[in-house]
Parts: sequence; C-alpha cells; structure tokens
Amino acid sequence: MKKIYLDNNATTAVHPEVFDAMLPYLKDEFGNPSSIHWAGRNPRKAIDEAREKAAKLLNCDVSEIIFTSCGSEGDNLAIKGIAESKRDKGNHIITTKVEHPAVLGACKYLAKTGFDVTFLDVDSQGMLDLEQLKRAITSKTILITIMFANNETGVIFPIDEIGKIAKEHNILFHTDAVQGVGKVPIDVKKLNVDLLTLSGHKIYAPKGVAAVYVKRGVRLVPLIHGGHQERNRRGGTENTAGIAALGKACEIALRDMAEETKHITALRDRLENGLREKIPYVRLNGHPTRRIPNTVNLSFEFVEGESLLLNLDMKGVAASSGSACTSGTLEPSHVLLAMGVPMESAHGSVRFSLGRGNSAEDIDYVIEALPAIVERMRSMSPLYSTAAKQAANITFSESGSCSH
Ligand SMILES: *Cc1c(COP(=O)(O)O)cnc(C)c1O
Repeated sequence: MKKIYLDNNATTAVHPEVFDAMLPYLKDEFGNPSSIHWAGRNPRKAIDEAREKAAKLLNCDVSEIIFTSCGSEGDNLAIKGIAESKRDKGNHIITTKVEHPAVLGACKYLAKTGFDVTFLDVDSQGMLDLEQLKRAITSKTILITIMFANNETGVIFPIDEIGKIAKEHNILFHTDAVQGVGKVPIDVKKLNVDLLTLSGHKIYAPKGVAAVYVKRGVRLVPLIHGGHQERNRRGGTENTAGIAALGKACEIALRDMAEETKHITALRDRLENGLREKIPYVRLNGHPTRRIPNTVNLSFEFVEGESLLLNLDMKGVAASSGSACTSGTLEPSHVLLAMGVPMESAHGSVRFSLGRGNSAEDIDYVIEALPAIVERMRSMSPLYSTAAKQAANITFSESGSCSH
C-alpha cells in the first residue's frame, strides 16, 4: 500500500543527516559531557556546537539557549519559571484561547495557584485583536505568552507587533514557536521576544529534545533543580545525541528553509485548491494567507472528521483532525471553537500538514482519493441530502464560510 505522510505538525521523520549526526553519541562517544576526562570531551564539544547552531538559527547568543527534553517542558519552563521569579511583581498573565495544550495547561495550573490569566479571543480567521491585548494589560501583568504559529490551522500571529506592545509596557514576552521555527525565518532580536520555545521533532530531529531561548538578563526559576547543567537552569545529564541532532536540524533549517518553503508551499496550495475544486461544501479553517507554508485545515461539511481520517488511513494517507478522541467522546478542537466554527463543521475538520518528504504524486493521490470518500460518506448522511435539496439557497463565500 502507498504510504503518504501529511501529519508533519504532529511529528516529522528524522532527516538522514540528523540521524548520522546523532549516532556517535549513542555509541563510542558515550561519555558524560560534564566529565573532565577524555570521555566527556567530545560529548561536551557536540553540545557546544549544537548550541551555536540553535543560536544562529534564532539570531541569539549561545548563552541564551537552554536545552530541554521537549517543547512541552520548554513551554512550562518559560511560563512557570517566569511566573515564579516575578511573583512579587504581579500575578497577571496574558495568553490566547488557541495555544497548544502545553501552554494552556501551564497557564491553567498557575491560575489554580493564585495567578490571574487572561485568555484572548481570536476572530473567525483565527487572528488576534491587538486592541484586546492592549486593553488586557494591567499593572500586575508579568508575562504575555502567545504562540508564533498555530499547530492546527497554521495561522501566524503578529509576533513583532506583540513584541513591541510587550516592550512598551515592560512586560516579558514568551512565544511558543514550535510550529514556526524551520518554516519561516525567526530573528528573536527583530521580534522583541524574551523567551521562545522550539522542539526537535517538529523540525526533523528525533522526539525528546527541544530548546528555549531566554534573553540575557531574564531570570527564571528552574523546573528541574539538580546539577549545574544549562547554567543551573535545567538540571540533568544532557541528552547528548538528541542535542547534537537538534543542532544539526537547526543548521539544516537555516540552509534549506528558503528552497523547502517554495517546494512545500506549492504542494500545499496544489492540495488545497485541488480539494476545494473537486469537493463541494469545503471550508478553510484559518487565515488564507497569514499561515505557515505547510498547513491547511479544511472542514468537509456533513462528514465526521474522525471517520474521514480512518478512510484516508485505509488508503495509506496519514492526516489528523483538530479534535482529540478522549474516552470515547469526540471533543471538537478548542482552536476551531474559539474561532466560532460551528460544532458540526469543527467535527468535520481535517488538518493536512506537509513536510520535506512530500511529492506532487502524493498530493495528486490524495486529490484523487478524497472526493470519492467524502461523497460516499455524505451519501449516508441525512443532513447532506436535506442540504443538497436546499443547495440553491446556500451560498459559500470566498473564505469558505457557509452563510444561509
Ligand atoms: C508539538 C508542539 C508542542 C509540544 O512539543 P513536544 O516536543 O511534543 O512536547 C508545543 N507547542 C506546539 C505549537 C506544538 O506544535
């Protein structure tokens, strides 16, 4: 069976060069990087070099990079670490309703321990209202944490403008850039961000390694107290192989980004246009242009997203839905609901996220296979036959939203 992977926002395949870069540290170069004897020397050097590569990708100093075990840890370190170190200055944090669970979870935890958290709304295209952000700021606001790009819709937030607002008010600004890094150029100095999270397995490094940028002078309380690793900011013997891999992935991202973006954008647009041409009642979830190049989130009205994914899986196509299947009950995506997408449409959403491994043949295969699947599922839906009869009264606007 054909195997087509269109779920790169969930995780990516390890790049062959990254794979090669990590092997020595799983084998002969096993030493503890903190050891002062011969065995620790090359592992230490590998970590130093990886730090340089990560710093170069973000345009920061090596001392500003902290390696962690995953993006979720990075988000938690940034948010809880700042909250705790700034507790005497204020207890107010601003975030959005559409963050990744790692950010939402950290913020909700803090809300239970005496912090006051504002969750900003988004509009129907998933965009923020910066006036709402400005109005939310109080004298007690210590942190703004807003993601760079949304993992479900791909929508990119105006991080530079948010950075300016944060700076004007002397508030620290963290951005979860896990879906932005490697896909669009990111310069932490230009963006005025104080903290930024990235994760290895979203940029062709393996799972279990990530990094946080923390601007020089910004103090945070560690999550993991222990040894002196990462300048006392993250105890624990370093994951040398993973860190070497992450460094290599950052180097490759810087080298290949422009070319890959061209390739991936073209394929993504081919998929998006192809499906919308061939299938009626499709809505685009997210902003048509302010999006990372690899992501398209579509709702196929009158079908259930999870069943659609199962049918795609049977054809060898891996994609994902915004909704998470929890204990048998299908909960629609918090991101789509925050955008005001109707419950039924949210249930019919599918996220396609492309990567460097995809080809035009992959895309054409999906454009060929999906219309028949949707048609078959709709033919079994009583809602669809009713709607089809009323079709004359339904108009679909350019943005894909359905208005009666
Ligand atoms: C994947 C992801 C994370 C979590 O990273 P892990 O390394 O899987 O913990 C955080 N934020 C966003 C936006 C993500 O897509």
